[in-house]
Formats: sequence, C-alpha cells, structure tokens
Amino acid sequence: MSATPNTVQTVTGPVAGADLGITLVHEHVLVGTPGWQLDAKAPPFRRADTMARAVDTMLELQAEGVRTFVDPCPMDGGRDVEFLAELSGKSGMHIVCTTGAYFEAEGISQTFRHLPEEEVAEIYVKEITEGVGETGIRAGAIKIATGPRVVTAYEKKMVSAAARAAKATGVPIISHTQDATCGHDQIDLVTAQGVSPDRLVVGHSDGTPDHWYQRGLAERGAFVGFDRFGISIYISDEVRIQNVLRLAEAGHTERILLSHDSILCWMGRPVPYAQSYDQLRAMLPDWRPTLIFRKIIPKLIEGGMSQRQIDTILVDNPRRLFTGD
Ligand SMILES: [Zn+2]
Repeated sequence: MSATPNTVQTVTGPVAGADLGITLVHEHVLVGTPGWQLDAKAPPFRRADTMARAVDTMLELQAEGVRTFVDPCPMDGGRDVEFLAELSGKSGMHIVCTTGAYFEAEGISQTFRHLPEEEVAEIYVKEITEGVGETGIRAGAIKIATGPRVVTAYEKKMVSAAARAAKATGVPIISHTQDATCGHDQIDLVTAQGVSPDRLVVGHSDGTPDHWYQRGLAERGAFVGFDRFGISIYISDEVRIQNVLRLAEAGHTERILLSHDSILCWMGRPVPYAQSYDQLRAMLPDWRPTLIFRKIIPKLIEGGMSQRQIDTILVDNPRRLFTGD
C-alpha cells in the first residue's frame, strides 16, 4: 500500500520527486465554501472562462520556472479534481490534489461526524490509492485543518485519521491553521500515529509576527508554511520576509516553505465583506501566485539569503516533504 519511494502522485499520474522542480505547496484553483451553490444571488461559476484563465495562470507560473502546483483543497471546500486534471493536461503543469477535510466551524462536518476515525482513514486511503470517486484521479497528499486556539474533538479525530492514512500510504500532510494557532497540537496528533514531523507542513504559520512560534515548529522538525504571501490584511509581507530571514538565520532554511494560498476562482461569495471574488481580489492586488518570484525573492536576497538557500526552499524542501528523502 505504500507509495513507490520517490514518486509523487499528481492528478495526471506519478512524477519522480526529482522532476517536481520549483513547487508551490499551497495554492488553489477552485474554492467554494460549503453550500456556495445554494447562493442564487452569487455570480455564476463559468467553467470554460475559468479554465481559460487557469491555463493562462499556469503558463505565467511556468514562465517563472514553476513546475509543480499543489492545490490542498479539502473535500468540503469546492474540490474538483477533474477540473485540475484537465488544467494539467492543457498547461503541462504538474498539479497535486489532496484528500482530507476542513476545520469544524467552516467545513461540512456532519457527513464525517458520525464516522469512526478508522473509516475516515479508509476513505482517505481509498482516495490516495484508487482515486477520488470513479475518476481514478488520486490524491497526492492529505489536507488537515484546525480552528482557532482550540482543536475540537471532531478535528482531533480527522487529523488522527489523516495521520493514519499518511502512515499507511507514505503521502505528506498539508495543514490549515487558523490565526497561526494549534500548530504544535497538529504535530502532536500526527506524530502520535507514527508519522515523522518532516512529512507535515504546518500551514499558514505566517499568520503571526511571532518568530518563536515559527521557530518552535521548525525545531520539532515540521515544515513551516510561510504560505500566505500577498494576503496583507492582518500581516504584511514585510513581516513575513523578516521572519523568513530570521528563521533561516537560526539555521532552519531546510524547514521553510513559501506559497501564497492564492485562489484562482472563489465560487460563490467568499467573505461577508465582498460581494464577489473579483471585489476581494481588487482589495488584495499583490495576492497572485507569481508574487514570490517577482517581489519576494528579490527582497530575501537583498536581506542576505543566497540563491542556494532560495533553491533549497523552492525545490529541495517540497521534494523532501513529498518523498521523505
Ligand atoms: Zn488554502
């Protein structure tokens, strides 16, 4: 049942770890909060237009050198693996999708609430080894998510199920944290099932200016996700850059991952303060998956990082997360 060593399952088939290249570990093509289809007043989802825009975005990223795009959309977050497979075919981008569920307050917990942990783990394993539904498209990683400050009983069960499935299949775990809290709880829950902390990226750990929180995660061996570049509502990119540099100076370059948590198309109405996703995007002009290459890396190099360190962060670290080597 274990994944073949050193290969990564993309939506169009296995790819050698050495061929992942520059990898964005946390970006999204489609996102829809549970129930988005019920909102008859939301702008309609136009598949063909969205596909055309998505292909353009993938080509733009390829021009920046990106070879692999990881979309850790949870099952209950508007995931559409056939859309991703078509996009990969049209653009040539390696795309990895995930199995797994969102945190209790914002996911569809009812479906999973009554299932025991073992059965949730079996569902995840099925999506990794056989594919999602009848599509044959296999998940290459598992998404976990916890809410703010406290991990609920439901989230504990779901994270433990994810860790069991990761242990059984050899795929990594990509997490969502809320307000950069509960990262240590995630490490505790994942390692309790025998998964090494270096197969987990604690996502959205850049949602705080607290270097010591980030450093604590790195010291325990987990990857630290600075994966919301461009989302400048609560934390500025300047703070993120300073914290990346500081973590590298502390000797943890090999634990850093960079991404944007960008969303190409947010179906429905994303947040209460925006009537459409276009309106939200207009509020965050830098929030594009090319930002790291155009504006952030130059600043990291200005701040003293070497090109070798940048390559470690963009190429070697994602490969090690996925292959464990
Ligand atoms: Zn995300």
